[in-house]
Amino acid sequence: MTIHLKNITMQFKDTVAVNRLNLTIPEGELVSLLGPSGCGKSTTLFMIAGLLTPTEGEIYFSGENVTKKSPEKRNIGMVFQNYALYPHMSVLKNIMFPLKMQKVPSNEAKKRAIEASKLVEIDHLLDRKPSELSGGQQQRVAIARAIVREPDVLLLDEPLSNLDAKLRLSMREEIREIQQRLNITTLFVTHDQEEALSISDHVVLMNQGKIEQFATPTEIYSEPTSLFAAEFIGSPPMNIFKDVSEAQLKALCPNVPFSNEIASIGIRPEDLLIKDDGLKVTVKLVETVGKDTLITVEHDHFKRFKLFVHKDEYIEQNGEYYVQVNPENMLIFDKE
Ligand code: ADP
Repeated sequence: MTIHLKNITMQFKDTVAVNRLNLTIPEGELVSLLGPSGCGKSTTLFMIAGLLTPTEGEIYFSGENVTKKSPEKRNIGMVFQNYALYPHMSVLKNIMFPLKMQKVPSNEAKKRAIEASKLVEIDHLLDRKPSELSGGQQQRVAIARAIVREPDVLLLDEPLSNLDAKLRLSMREEIREIQQRLNITTLFVTHDQEEALSISDHVVLMNQGKIEQFATPTEIYSEPTSLFAAEFIGSPPMNIFKDVSEAQLKALCPNVPFSNEIASIGIRPEDLLIKDDGLKVTVKLVETVGKDTLITVEHDHFKRFKLFVHKDEYIEQNGEYYVQVNPENMLIFDKE
């Protein structure tokens, strides 16, 4: 199933939540909708689900215009942030529910629900009530319920945000595995850039109801097309150098010609190097981050920025050093 959004807009009174959005989600891919809170991710997902009707524009599922189709007729599976399980029903009944709505005979529904529960490894919990499950187990029930009808599209709205950090990592890998095994076109809403980059085929970065960039995780990381994308993607974030003078640019990267059109320069912390000369900085903070050392340095004009150094390199707190960058690792943003 390919999903095509054509010029869709969603206006709530005076808020334009989604603004003339155009997007094609390729068949069988996992695509993340990523962006800060309030940028229109959930509204976009709800329009694809049929829970909201766009005020303008059209939605196509494999060429068929489904803009006016009700949610039940779209053959989608959806997982919400709070899982939305029925508290009075057992796990088995919860998973069978969408099939019951479709009037699938009970025996058949039970068989399919058990199969779905096996896929997410909760087939030993079928008699429990949701309140007797951990957060991660509830999440699995929600996923089993979403896939039991063998939907054409899987929609996930911040599905991992209620889980602790460790479980979030393992559940996202499981979601990716299930998605690839079923080869199901999947949309995954998240505000967590690391999560989006780690599991997606493509990332849709949104900002104020519009698409800022549609790209693969590698592309969006190494070639952000706007300052917004450059600052949003990466942890720690990309260093942004504003109002760079000719002398400062020469110090940072001697081979790059200066131009008055340069608005700012972006350099990731892993791309700055300590050298014998370059831009003069003072070290303010030295932190161990996993196998690397992250240092925060201060510069008279650019204030504070960060870079990674090899863990064996001795860095003196308050020491003065020089930093440089390779030209291919530097992003130049021109004035508008
Ligand atoms: P996100 O999922 O990226 O956090 P949303 O899609 O939930 O963002 O919201 C986008 C914008 O639309 C926000 O400004 C939000 O306040 C507004 N909004 C969302 N739903 C409604 C609604 N039902 N009524 C009015 N405004 C809404």
